[in-house]
Amino acid sequence: MSGFTVLLLGGTGEARRLASLLARERPDLRVVTSLAGRVARPALPDGEVRVGGFGGPAGLAEWLRRERVGAVVDATHPFAARISTSAVTACAEVGLPLLVVRRPGWTERPGDDWRRVPSLEAAAGTIAGLGERVFLSTGRQSVAVFAGLDRHWFLVRSVDPPDPPLPRRLAVVLDRGPFTVAGERELLRRYEIEVLVTKDSGGTMTAAKLEAARELGLPVVLVDRPPTPPADRVEHIEDVVSWLSTLGATPGS
Ligand code: NAP
Repeated sequence: MSGFTVLLLGGTGEARRLASLLARERPDLRVVTSLAGRVARPALPDGEVRVGGFGGPAGLAEWLRRERVGAVVDATHPFAARISTSAVTACAEVGLPLLVVRRPGWTERPGDDWRRVPSLEAAAGTIAGLGERVFLSTGRQSVAVFAGLDRHWFLVRSVDPPDPPLPRRLAVVLDRGPFTVAGERELLRRYEIEVLVTKDSGGTMTAAKLEAARELGLPVVLVDRPPTPPADRVEHIEDVVSWLSTLGATPGS
């Protein structure tokens, strides 16, 4: 077995691509991807995989020591704030280098009609004046925030069914990205959507809905990201390979 273990906190397309990249370019490393276990049938990455929470920062620190991890790469979703904070605390405690991979957020383009809000709760307050039929593209765990809004009709799209409580007037489409602009346009039209609510996830996997909304002249309520964790940060998975070589985790070492 390799002498250098990397824990890759995953649950995103980037993390999956990074696991493949490292398997290809750094077969000398032992890379363990960690998934939260939220999705019933997750798309599995290359390499080793473990599933489930660690039990907070203390549990994570214990796991890092037990598995003799040499470095941690946090490639979780920009809105997965708890695990990212946990990684900062645990790495500081164990004395491990930590790198955060964060794709840039989306930027408004000519023709867009966006309203940025600081939270899902603020988004629920903002849709009132924008339209009755809402495409809620914020992930299944956040639908409950909109449960009390009886005057609206919601379209929810998620990989697994959304967690209750749910809004009274609701349709659920189970689907997994990436999505195309043509597909998103068709979805918005078919359900006569008047307003789109989404998190500022960034990336290309789910950006097509923003382009479709622009084409159809629909307003978008965009939930801002939580603060980025205080750690070294890169935007692209290729930069992780060079970061790992600066640690002395070089091929053949
Ligand atoms: P979160 O609020 O930051 O995490 C809640 C708890 O779930 C954490 O405290 C941790 O439990 C556990 N956890 C989260 N990610 C984990 C991982 N990669 N490996 C092991 N345990 C993990 O996260 P979330 O927003 O629920 O997201 C859960 C997962 O889904 C993340 O891996 C994220 O990358 C992915 N995801 C999230 C979103 C989103 O919009 N939030 C979108 C797409 C994918 P313990 O404290 O017990 O360790």
